[in-house]
Amino acid sequence: MTITPETIAELRGLLEITSPLPWEWTEDLTALPFRAYYQLRVATSDATLITAAVNALPALLDAAERLAVVTAERDALAASVARVRELHVMHPDDCKCLERMFGGECFHHGGCEACRCKFPCSTLAALDGSGS
Ligand SMILES: [Zn+2]
Ligand SMILES: [Zn+2]
Repeated sequence: MTITPETIAELRGLLEITSPLPWEWTEDLTALPFRAYYQLRVATSDATLITAAVNALPALLDAAERLAVVTAERDALAASVARVRELHVMHPDDCKCLERMFGGECFHHGGCEACRCKFPCSTLAALDGSGS
């Protein structure tokens, strides 16, 4: 089952029309609120799970919504890192730098195309977690 925003909205809507939380498991039918028209026949262990799951549902829905936000933020950051990595590549050996056009050596050979530092540059080291 995928938890979509629609699923979250549906579950929040159901929480609004059911008995208020927290639910408690009881075998005492006289303890049921006036809105309890039906009995649900389940094993005690199942009822314990149902009660615990319903009571945890608001927090779980909050977590699911937060996960969607965090995932979107993570994806945006990963895209930013990918764009930076695409810039910080080694200067190509077959470059068209002016020095080479006049038969000389390119000063940028072995360097980063973006920042001209020795490749791999400090930017890539930082992205890899080894920079200082
Ligand atoms: Zn660089
Ligand atoms: Zn060059």
